[in-house]
Amino acid sequence: MVEEAEKRDHRKLGKELDLFCFSDLVGPGLPLFTPKGTIIKDELQKHIEKVCRSYGFQKVSTPHLAKIDLYEKSGHAQKFGDELFQVASHYKQNYVMKPVQCPHQTQIFASRPRSYKDLPIRYMESEKQYRDEKPGEIGGLQRVIAITVEDGHSFCTVDQVKQEVKNMVEIIKNFYTSLGMWENHSVSLSVRDYAHPEKYIGESSDWDLCENMLQEISDEMDLKAVKHEGEAALYGPKLDFMFRDSLGKEIQIPTVQLDFATPKRFDLEYTNNEGGKSSPVMVHRAILGSYERFMMLLIEHFAGAFPLWLSPVQVAVLPISEKFIDYANEVKNALLENDIRVELSDRAESLGKRISEAEKMKTPYILVVGEKEVADKTVAIRTRGIREQQTLPIQNFIEKISKKIKDKA
Ligand SMILES: [Zn+2]
Repeated sequence: MVEEAEKRDHRKLGKELDLFCFSDLVGPGLPLFTPKGTIIKDELQKHIEKVCRSYGFQKVSTPHLAKIDLYEKSGHAQKFGDELFQVASHYKQNYVMKPVQCPHQTQIFASRPRSYKDLPIRYMESEKQYRDEKPGEIGGLQRVIAITVEDGHSFCTVDQVKQEVKNMVEIIKNFYTSLGMWENHSVSLSVRDYAHPEKYIGESSDWDLCENMLQEISDEMDLKAVKHEGEAALYGPKLDFMFRDSLGKEIQIPTVQLDFATPKRFDLEYTNNEGGKSSPVMVHRAILGSYERFMMLLIEHFAGAFPLWLSPVQVAVLPISEKFIDYANEVKNALLENDIRVELSDRAESLGKRISEAEKMKTPYILVVGEKEVADKTVAIRTRGIREQQTLPIQNFIEKISKKIKDKA
């Protein structure tokens, strides 16, 4: 087991598969994603955004810093304390790097008059946020100081909260199903520490309402959430989702959190159906949390053999010798035209060496082409993890893997 964990260590595999790196000049805790690592990050983001768009989420983009006043108002300045990065300006204003996305998004909501007819309003973004971590606590992608967080919020009426939370649970289910991880999950209903109400912001009547609502949702959706006292967020109770990775380690990532307090702190309001003013509820949700930590989990869970739709290189094309380079290029271009990520391996090395190289990179499909393939317009296919080879006309191969990519199979 220890040996297996070492083999899967994301720092080791990240280097071997060329996914990310660090630089002394850039600084510790600041990972740099290489072209291959960036493909994985972008694919995850595209997938999440597509699922969320179908539930009415709209993408926003906010700056990486703000006046400290924003976080004093939200309560994060007090909560994060020394973890806030201070930025000194040459002018009178000082800033802090954002430790979370939520307060910025409240200001987009507040930028126009809102009516009950406009709600729910749902925002999402995948931007960086920053935590001034102690140097000794930084390591690999596990804990970094520049964190790319996929974050989303729904601003809604009290009557809409239940449906919003249910939608978010559906989104989480959809996303983790596509990674084959949903079957292996458990849910926690994280509530207040009833003995220490001073640790939280907001009214206790709102907390009662929220905690009961999450319990009802758990019952109605058969989530079998287990109550954990003292695990709530600063501003409200939450549903936390735990998964087991392939080594049996429990990991907590997705979360849906109810928040009556933040909208009140920022005086957010909308015109209700009686013409008066009401304050919206904010529902926070994270699906994959931070891309850095999620990348670490994916690398270790799949031991670098990512599902086809996430693989940085989906197909490697290997001509048997340089005589067949023209046909290999033809195959490569046909794949590229169909948005399949392909690499041509035509270095002056033996075929055996090039095959073993592509296998070491965990490439899902290796296509070998020689005289027979040129004559028949076919490709000889070696599929990752399967012993038998297969030969198909190039067009059939493209159709087959395009469908797999689309279905995230
Ligand atoms: Zn939030």
